[in-house]
Amino acid sequence: DENISVIRDLSKEDDELLLRPQKLNQYIGQANIKEMLSIYIQAALKRNESLDHILLYGAPGLGKTTLAQIIANELGVNIKITSGPAIEKTGDLAALLTTLKHGDVLFIDEIHRLPRFVEEVLYSAMEDYVLDIVLDKDRDSRSIRIELPPFTLIGATTRFGDLSHPLRDRFGATLRLSYYTQEELAQIVSRTANVYQNDIEEEAVKELAKRSRGTPRIANRLFRRVRDFAEIMSDGVITHDITNLALTKLGIDSRGLDHSDYLYLKGIVERFNGGPVGLESIASTIGEEPGTIEDVFEPYLLQEGYIKRTPRGRVATELAYSVLGKKYYKGLLD
Ligand code: ATP
Repeated sequence: DENISVIRDLSKEDDELLLRPQKLNQYIGQANIKEMLSIYIQAALKRNESLDHILLYGAPGLGKTTLAQIIANELGVNIKITSGPAIEKTGDLAALLTTLKHGDVLFIDEIHRLPRFVEEVLYSAMEDYVLDIVLDKDRDSRSIRIELPPFTLIGATTRFGDLSHPLRDRFGATLRLSYYTQEELAQIVSRTANVYQNDIEEEAVKELAKRSRGTPRIANRLFRRVRDFAEIMSDGVITHDITNLALTKLGIDSRGLDHSDYLYLKGIVERFNGGPVGLESIASTIGEEPGTIEDVFEPYLLQEGYIKRTPRGRVATELAYSVLGKKYYKGLLD
């Protein structure tokens, strides 16, 4: 039918578009955040004012960009999307801000990576909706003032601690996204299967949910890979057996840990005798960027109790030893 042929013709980017929920009530999980946002949005609409600036904070792939798009959609305004590292000059920021219309949303991903002098220009834009731009800094330092329409800044960050205090203080609300439960991920996987029009067994949905590290982006990525296997092996029907086979071939274990997680845990246990070990040391041991370790690997391993952070560094827990098949004796000695 028409729907199917449309889906077959879509490129990967278009798939992404279809997958993105458009409304707050289609966004799965994050119940507290949805409740708060729904009130803020309704109040702003009722007063016919722009929504207060909002900071979204949480691990990569938890759906911060998706949420920002939903907020704009619910407000009935346009959204401009950029990221901290993409704004190199105050002029880049001015170019974005001056195209906003009354009530529009500006989304800045990785806002903790904004250059400091750009951040300083952002303060007055957020607070008073004006841009103060200094011309000819070296000579007579004239400055011009540009009035902006009221707008909403939505900032996203994986690192709340890296945000300066003056910037934090200018957000009306800070919302922290948490990892998704397996039930929530199962709903996301079912929804994705529906969008792609794949038949999927209930057990396969559960398996994918269990192995997705609490993260929708990972759930959708694993879904696509499993779907490839199903396409070749069972005419597209995603069975539990095919899911297990594909995930094993992808190197994802029954807990959802992958090769990098194992490398990291083995590093702490085998090279540093279970820790404590500092971030830089473990990073250089396994050849990863410290930032990646801190933002991508560790939050989930911490939450699931594979590691602990102590003032002296990271420590592997008994659980980490058990997944590596090693005997734990640390606790007895401490
Ligand atoms: P972030 O900005 O936090 O890194 P994101 O907003 O870019 O994440 P993705 O990581 O791209 O989101 O999410 C992958 C896909 O998962 C999105 O296309 C979206 O459809 C889906 N998704 C994310 N969160 C949810 C959710 N809460 N409910 C339903 N689908 C979701």
